[in-house]
Amino acid sequence: CGIIGIVGTKPVAERLVESLRRLEYRGYDSAGVAAQIDGKLERRRAPGKLRELEAVLADHPLPAATGIGHTRWATHGAPTERNAHPHIAGRVAVVHNGIIENFAELKAELQAKGRVFSSDTDTEVVAQLLDETLNDGLEPVAAFKATLDRLRGAYALAVLVGGEQEVILGARNGPPLAVGYGDGEMFVGSDGLALGPFTNRVAYLEDGDYVVVDHHSAKIFDHAGLPADRPIKTLAASA
Ligand code: GLU
Repeated sequence: CGIIGIVGTKPVAERLVESLRRLEYRGYDSAGVAAQIDGKLERRRAPGKLRELEAVLADHPLPAATGIGHTRWATHGAPTERNAHPHIAGRVAVVHNGIIENFAELKAELQAKGRVFSSDTDTEVVAQLLDETLNDGLEPVAAFKATLDRLRGAYALAVLVGGEQEVILGARNGPPLAVGYGDGEMFVGSDGLALGPFTNRVAYLEDGDYVVVDHHSAKIFDHAGLPADRPIKTLAASA
């Protein structure tokens, strides 16, 4: 129900949780974060309140500067640790707000290719499909676009690709996703409030847009894959 992503220069885990706390007002039943440690995707998840996730992180720190976080409001699959986001398949970690309407059909197709699912969510098809597309040999951004083209439904997404340490991919079709512009750090988040601790310079994706975020830039593309200019607004400092 809330998304945050940070391409940062400082330890990311507490910052992700700080941001998720600002999204608590939307309601949630579980939470999680993911990052790469030496090119390997790792995640920490917990059902219940953010303090449960903090307890997991205290026992199992996530020492990285770039990562994604999520608060979940379950639509498909019980509110358990197994169904909490991020969902990981191979080289891909995904957080998602919304509903993938054609997940059952995509899941059947991926299972027929031998893919084994580890959750009951609609979201996991995004991770599995993107990983499958990467295995087909596409570059990460092209694979992401090809994956988005197969999805029906509503989504805000933030994605990590293993080995691409300093990049977050994002997309919007329905639920909002904002890009935050910092100083040598960049952010994606569900709204300006989520980005408030980090920056007040924010651009909102339009429906059908996707974005490639690194330390210094956000390359935004529209649904046709053409570069898109979305205005950067300066929000009130208290936002
Ligand atoms: N449909 C997804 C799930 O149930 C995402 C829910 C959300 O927006 O938090 O896991």
